[in-house]
Amino acid sequence: MRLSPITALLAASLLAAVLFTAGCIESPDQVFPGPAGESGSGPDTTVEMKYFEEVTKVPRPSGHLTAIQNYLCAFAEEHHLEYETDAVGNVLIKHPGSSPSEHHIILQAHQDMVPAVREGSSFVFGKDSIKTYIKDGWLYAEETSLGADDGRGIATALAALSSDELSDCSFDCIFTVDEETTMSGAKNLSPDWLSADALLNIDTEHWGSVCVSSAGGAFVEAVFHPEREKTPVTACYRLFVSGLRSGHSAHLIDSGRLNAVKTAADSLSPDCMM
Ligand SMILES: [Zn+2]
Repeated sequence: MRLSPITALLAASLLAAVLFTAGCIESPDQVFPGPAGESGSGPDTTVEMKYFEEVTKVPRPSGHLTAIQNYLCAFAEEHHLEYETDAVGNVLIKHPGSSPSEHHIILQAHQDMVPAVREGSSFVFGKDSIKTYIKDGWLYAEETSLGADDGRGIATALAALSSDELSDCSFDCIFTVDEETTMSGAKNLSPDWLSADALLNIDTEHWGSVCVSSAGGAFVEAVFHPEREKTPVTACYRLFVSGLRSGHSAHLIDSGRLNAVKTAADSLSPDCMM
């Protein structure tokens, strides 16, 4: 539920490095010039954080992305940028540039986020805006997940699209849908949208590292037809699993934390019931 300022800095630095590599800018410092934080060095992420704050106000659970798509299209219109949407809700915004770039690149982020709500909260994802606050240099969400994955990527792309420093640079930004669930956005991307020398996915999480490939994802639909038995009313129970530590299963699978679904299933197994 928190976003380190350094994470935003990483996105800006990475973007600067890529645009520099693509020949769009003469120096990586050109993207977000000016002081950052107390050190007075590094890129200024003020614009990026402004867009991040705006994006957190737009509900973005997977499968309910009309509001963020409308926000992105309104952004494109406001900045007089050409844009397209496709049948699944992906959004393409083109930054034409006033002179041809050495290489044409695409920045890609995903629109959706994991909608986690603190127990007992009246917050409704899909309707309410995420409320944030800063404590000890960290940005937190009050009762929900923050949505830095991938709101931070969206914010980085919007900062690039609105940057005066990049007015010469030609690049595209693609915002895909449902990365957190079915990957339907990436799967349905039209090849017509991918006419670039390189695509940079702005969704990495580790300081100093660049991911050059991904394992991808699979969606499995399993159908189970149980044999039902009549049970005496006195034998009905409702099972809750709570109080577990959160964490991303992709990164913390070896950290010994309990998985709620597995714990519930294990507790219903014949061995456990005896
Ligand atoms: Zn992500």
